[in-house]
Amino acid sequence: MLSNIRVVLVGTSHPGNIGSTARAMKTMGLSTLYLAEPRVAPDGHSVALAAGASDILKHAVTVDSVAEAIADCSLVIATSARSRTLDWPMLEPREAGEKLVASALTGPVAIVFGRENNGLSNEELQKCNYHVAIPANPEYTSLNLAQAVQIICYEARVAHLAQVQRDFENAKPEGYVEPVNEYPFAKERENFFSHLEETLLNTGFIVKQHPGQVMTKLRRLFSRARLERQEMNILRGMLTSIDKKVAPKDNNEA
Ligand code: SAH
Repeated sequence: MLSNIRVVLVGTSHPGNIGSTARAMKTMGLSTLYLAEPRVAPDGHSVALAAGASDILKHAVTVDSVAEAIADCSLVIATSARSRTLDWPMLEPREAGEKLVASALTGPVAIVFGRENNGLSNEELQKCNYHVAIPANPEYTSLNLAQAVQIICYEARVAHLAQVQRDFENAKPEGYVEPVNEYPFAKERENFFSHLEETLLNTGFIVKQHPGQVMTKLRRLFSRARLERQEMNILRGMLTSIDKKVAPKDNNEA
């Protein structure tokens, strides 16, 4: 799923940033890097900063424009250090992570990062569905390119882990049938109470001539518990097992 999330760097001019981006991506489980009209090609400096993530650099796809990098993406989110450059739908980084992960289930999506010196052009920004600004210090909003990549990739990872957890919780073993909380009909309840009373008479727990309030109290107890049909059946099974051990008492005994 995360491999469908494409990181697009536009017009990058520092090879180190390309390497650090690869590292930021790999630590968060992303792997697809596109370089749109890069000012420099990845070099030894990139590899050094990529550390163990040089496989991502090796497989990076270089294209001539943003348009080319995002052509087959169903969702494209642009990043900008300036919030509301244009009057465009804005997302918080967290929402961006959630949207990227949700759409990545069905195909490629992209998150686009701009040039170190002047970000993305308005024309490039307008090619994207949403814009996201990392809410930085208003007096100093511009993060290092690879650090901005790290934050967005982290949000994608958080959203991905939440998705995995949801899938795990919803997973059912083969052949599993969703239990329906069925409640017994009034008639079944009455049968249960009759059975209970009969068993308690047989065991001698209640005496026919002096029943007291026991059955009323037990009715109240079981009503409060609002027994499901299956639970009531278990209790009836228990009563039957008791019945089998107890010889019926002659309740007419004085
Ligand atoms: N001076 C540029 C800043 C470029 S920083 C400008 O004004 O746009 C390089 C890239 O890092 C940006 O294009 C963006 O992709 C990313 N970036 C840096 N700070 C960011 C922030 N606060 N929110 C979102 N993206 C940011």
